[in-house]
Amino acid sequence: MKTKIAYIGKSCVACGVCVPVCPKSALQVEKGVRAVVDVEKCVGCGKCERSCAAAVISIAERRAAV
Ligand code: SF4
Ligand code: SF4
Repeated sequence: MKTKIAYIGKSCVACGVCVPVCPKSALQVEKGVRAVVDVEKCVGCGKCERSCAAAVISIAERRAAV
């Protein structure tokens, strides 16, 4: 089964807005540099994508087979 997850683009400014939006607590801001997605928690709901003012989040099919 193909599942979707969030991908954070390189232009993330680590503002942290997306972190509390995620219902699965799958997002964290790593070292103030950029947001990272916990691929085990993310369900691809897209809420973070809509919250990101910088529009750097995309929802796509999971690339690696798990
Ligand atoms: S809202 Fe967008 S720019 Fe801000 S931390 Fe999340 S992914 Fe990065
Ligand atoms: S797509 Fe949904 S579950 Fe995945 S990181 Fe974004 S808000 Fe969280």
